[in-house]
Amino acid sequence: MAVDETPEADVPPWRMLLAYARPHRWALLAGALLSLATGATGLALPLVARSLIDDLSEDRSIAGALVLMSVLVVANAGVGALGSYVLRRTAESVVLTARRRLSSYLLRLRIAAVDRTEPGDLMARVTSDSTLLREVTTDTLVGLGTGGLTAVATLVLMGVVDPVLLAVTAGVIAAAGTVIGVIVPRINRAAKRAAESVGLMGAALERVLGALRTVKASGAEHREERAVHAAAQESWRQSVRAAKWSALAGNTAGLSMQVAFITVLAVGGARVATGAIDVGTLVAFLLYVFYLMSPIQQVVGAVTQYQSGAAALTRIREAQLLPAEPAAEPAPLPEPGAEPAGLAFEDVRFRYADDLPFVHHGVSFRVPPRGMTAFVGPSGAGKTTVFSLIERFYEPTAGRILLDGADVTRYPIPALRAAIGYVEQDAPVLSGSLGDNLLLGNAAAGEDDVRAVLKTTRLDGLVARLPQGLDTLVGHRGTRLSGGERQRVAIARALLRRPRLLLLDEATSQLDAVNEAALRDTVAEVARSTTVLVVAHRLSTVTSADRIVVMDAGQVRAVGTHAELVAGDPLYAELATTQFLAATAGTA
Ligand code: ADP
Ligand code: MG
Repeated sequence: MAVDETPEADVPPWRMLLAYARPHRWALLAGALLSLATGATGLALPLVARSLIDDLSEDRSIAGALVLMSVLVVANAGVGALGSYVLRRTAESVVLTARRRLSSYLLRLRIAAVDRTEPGDLMARVTSDSTLLREVTTDTLVGLGTGGLTAVATLVLMGVVDPVLLAVTAGVIAAAGTVIGVIVPRINRAAKRAAESVGLMGAALERVLGALRTVKASGAEHREERAVHAAAQESWRQSVRAAKWSALAGNTAGLSMQVAFITVLAVGGARVATGAIDVGTLVAFLLYVFYLMSPIQQVVGAVTQYQSGAAALTRIREAQLLPAEPAAEPAPLPEPGAEPAGLAFEDVRFRYADDLPFVHHGVSFRVPPRGMTAFVGPSGAGKTTVFSLIERFYEPTAGRILLDGADVTRYPIPALRAAIGYVEQDAPVLSGSLGDNLLLGNAAAGEDDVRAVLKTTRLDGLVARLPQGLDTLVGHRGTRLSGGERQRVAIARALLRRPRLLLLDEATSQLDAVNEAALRDTVAEVARSTTVLVVAHRLSTVTSADRIVVMDAGQVRAVGTHAELVAGDPLYAELATTQFLAATAGTA
């Protein structure tokens, strides 16, 4: 079994934040320095105010002090604006980094991991949770840095002005800090639940919009609407709860500064009366207390804001802990050969998850290069699973799958898949244009190739009829095409890859008789130069196959030609009989 890559496993949220911020560290530093400069120009104001008051009380001209004050005020505003622009821009870059990393990771997830998630929830982690990193970057990373530094600098200056009044102020701040320490974990919990509910809302919406026709046809709009609303409501409830605790923390900080102001006024007044300090000193100190308010609230804001960021970071990390496909195998073979592939299953046992029953109980078969091999059997027999294992969407629990005689796990996954053309059972077509869909598996296909493939899949008529031809948009999951057209697009897409191994999973089930016969000829033609595996319900499509593998309940019952199996395998003979009867009944 391949090794799962789990980047950022068990990394605390703040370390993840630092990792995302790392590429932007110089811009962050510039923004932080500009913020500090803003703080510094503001910080000088009380000193100028003191000299202005001194000038006034000693009957000197205040013109110089006034000019200096005006310059400081203007510089403060200018530097402040530039600083907030740089910071906001950088914060957006951090969000971009997180979104890129997470979305790249999601595209590499193992199918088995995706089976157990809600796509809508994963989507919310990329789109919504990542957004929270913006505030965390500006408010937490920078706020804590600049706010903390400004607060410390202010406290030092206050100590220089009067240590006694500093002690009074610090006492009040410490008391407020204790209260805020009790509040913070509550914000954290609420923020986590709010983020989870946004994920639930995404999942509920995806469920409805992904099957809107069925929902409407079932008259289930109201029920589904309720599920979406419930998730939205829960997100609201938890966000309001987080806001309540955050407001309380912020107000505690604000209140503590008011209390500090009054206490300093009282204690300072007494000290002025005893002559320990003069009025100018008291005024300067009071201005510092006033000035301390903003960095203290910035620090508290940083701590409270970080709680929702930490919740988002945790959810992003959870997604990154899902197992991804290995980037490279321990000792990969370079690539499968260029000739049509030979394939073999050797006693493959498989289950989709440890807590699920086995789907394959020792499946073995051998397919030589070239020719057509058909898989038939009741639904649920494990035919689609055979193809999923060849594509390495899943790994066998036991046994081996050999391509050209080598275990498939020894090829790099991209090289393995490059050798295969796969048409899934439900033949999905992606939203976008018809052309996009055809070129999905081979962006470099030339115009001639496309034209030839359109002809063999009998799509040329359709393309000619459409006013915009290949540029025609096909709608979400190709809903603007008929089922049969979708299947032919999927087959054309697979053929354009010029695969060495072509896997067709009930790929012609929705075609009319004329188109199906035509496609059967195309596939027979392809099978002359390629190894073709088909799963088919209609035996009519496989009677001419070189060999037919009859599967039942996760096992291979029999292998042979149509004639051999009709004579030798009761299950196959029964299938043949019922389908023959069904066909005559249908035409009667
Ligand atoms: P067939 O194509 O022969 O109809 P499948 O290979 O699709 O059968 O499925 C075989 C069994 O595996 C079924 O019982 C089905 O319920 C189960 N199965 C298929 N896909 C998954 C999956 N992604 N996760 C869990 N079980 C699955
Ligand atoms: Mg199937």
